[in-house]
Amino acid sequence: MSEKIPIRKKVLSENDRLAAEIRARLLREKVVSLNLVSSPGSGKTSLLEKTLGALNGKVRMALIAGDVQTENDARRLIQAGGEIVRPAVTGGACHLDARMILRIIEKLDLAQVDILFIENVGNLVCPSSYDLGEDMKVVLISTTEGDDKPLKYPAMFRRSSALVINKTDLLGHSEFDVERVKENARNINPGLRIFEISCRLENGLDDWYDWLIYLVAARKAPEMSAARGENRSPGSQ
Ligand code: MG
Ligand code: ZN
Repeated sequence: MSEKIPIRKKVLSENDRLAAEIRARLLREKVVSLNLVSSPGSGKTSLLEKTLGALNGKVRMALIAGDVQTENDARRLIQAGGEIVRPAVTGGACHLDARMILRIIEKLDLAQVDILFIENVGNLVCPSSYDLGEDMKVVLISTTEGDDKPLKYPAMFRRSSALVINKTDLLGHSEFDVERVKENARNINPGLRIFEISCRLENGLDDWYDWLIYLVAARKAPEMSAARGENRSPGSQ
């Protein structure tokens, strides 16, 4: 058992090396990248479907759809209008790693991309340890889950830059207390940007779209974002 820890450390440091390479490539091509993480069923794919529809023609989007098995999510995203969609089927692994991402983006024409969305495998544990070279992690939670998720999975909430609370149309049908979630999440990570949305009813999505558009504009004009301190890479911490 005792050799487990050094092996894990070695895997993670190799992952960090590849993630740094990804980050450098994306920065060079001025691509914003977001790593979407959540439990299964929180609505990552739904949010990306809506985003594809809303920002089509305004922002050039590429998507990597991670799943343990099946390319179902990738298919959904293509049907939603995604022009650059790549499946990343882990074949059993419960997270994406930098090697998988690097292999995919090496074949993409990043000059044609403004924003890269990485939909991670539905899992709030190990995806928090694997830097994928993204600018930020975005953690989703839906109102059908326990509202103590931030307390149970603090690393994920600490390492994320934004929290999306989805399925707000179902509030009141469960014990989920949205204010408690926000408070718990902000206790862990005071800088967390929070969006409250319903993909189904398309509520609250405009703030999300505006933020994405802002991130893209800031990346193209880095002097502006540097002045606002927006260019940190929380994923690299
Ligand atoms: Mg999905
Ligand atoms: Zn894992």
